[in-house]
Amino acid sequence: MSLWRKLTAKGNPMFWPPVDGALLACVIIIAMNGFFLVTGMIGVLLPQLAPHVQIPVLHQMNLFALAMMLFWGLLYLTFLPLRKRNPKSRLPGMIVTYMFGHPLVVLAYFNGVHAIVTGLLLAVTPAFGFVMFKNRHVMNALLITWAEIIMLGFAVSMGWVADAPLFGDEPPNRFLAPMWLFMQVLIGFPVAIGFLMFTRYIVNALRARELQVRELSRRDALTGSWNRGYLSELMAREAAVAERTGQPLSLVIVDLDHFKCINDDHGHSAGDQALIQATRCLADSIREVDHLGRYGGEEFVLLLPNCDTDNARVIAERCREALANEPVDTGRVRLQLSASFGVATCHGEALDIDELFRRADRALYQAKDNGRNRVEVAG
Ligand code: GH3
Ligand code: MG
Ligand code: MG
Repeated sequence: MSLWRKLTAKGNPMFWPPVDGALLACVIIIAMNGFFLVTGMIGVLLPQLAPHVQIPVLHQMNLFALAMMLFWGLLYLTFLPLRKRNPKSRLPGMIVTYMFGHPLVVLAYFNGVHAIVTGLLLAVTPAFGFVMFKNRHVMNALLITWAEIIMLGFAVSMGWVADAPLFGDEPPNRFLAPMWLFMQVLIGFPVAIGFLMFTRYIVNALRARELQVRELSRRDALTGSWNRGYLSELMAREAAVAERTGQPLSLVIVDLDHFKCINDDHGHSAGDQALIQATRCLADSIREVDHLGRYGGEEFVLLLPNCDTDNARVIAERCREALANEPVDTGRVRLQLSASFGVATCHGEALDIDELFRRADRALYQAKDNGRNRVEVAG
């Protein structure tokens, strides 16, 4: 299993229980401070990399990163029992949200308020917070962090606190200091890449979910064919196309014959099975471009774009034969279904879809009157 698969095996973190999200945040913060500690240690051990860096200040920063790792490790262990006891608790998420920004402000103080790393991390924070916790505390926490950064910037510009103590009295050169570049590469890039990957993952997951939800909202729950709502949308769309292109548009209403008897004689679940199989049968008998929807109980609609009366009759006849010739296996009994079909066609100009529907419905009544299991075409 690839690392990515392993990481995403638990599904989209957005839909994890809140406590799991908070625990993940703790792990990320520990890893982030681990990064700071590693780069800081490299700075201490290889001072030639950091000629402009104040080593005692770097020691302080390393201690701070270590303290942060311990602190967030402790928080992690504190939240851990909640995973089982109360996984929906919002408290850990709230605590993490409000604690997240402050270590970054401290980092900003040491590095200089205008450091790129600071900017990157502050850009990550809200996105991360919104995705993980989806609550208003994220905005509060973000505003607090920003206020701290602004106050820090003000204090620096007034000379109340040292600007970027990590770089001592040599601020003009600090952006070219090898240590500085090293930190950009070691911290900035992984954070930026991680952020981009995380964002991509979340956006893809959201898009997939939206498509799934949209698809579900259009389908009939029992048969999987289009539902009545989406059928109306399709009818309006196809009517507009037909009007624009002048192509004929046909509509067929299908009503299963004596369906009540199937329910009465074999039970409702046999009736459901029959509806599912009838849908399959109809779907197999229409063209790729045609639409099949369940309009009501045992009534279906076929919408046939660019299809004149003769072709519509052929398609309806094909459906009728398929239904009448293939017994339906409901698991317990084999049933022979049949259906009546009302066909109506209109040609391009001033297309009234409601009128088309009414004509198909009248034709269907005629088919029922004339003995069922037949196709009637509206005149
Ligand atoms: P006709 O040939 O005149 O159409 O007779 P019919 O019995 O099919 O007509 P009617 O419209 O009176 O009955 C439709 C029946 O379809 C009534 C209802 O019990 C059944 N039905 C509607 N929706 C469902 C469903 O989702 N599942 C099942 N099993 N039966 C359904
Ligand atoms: Mg009916
Ligand atoms: Mg019926």
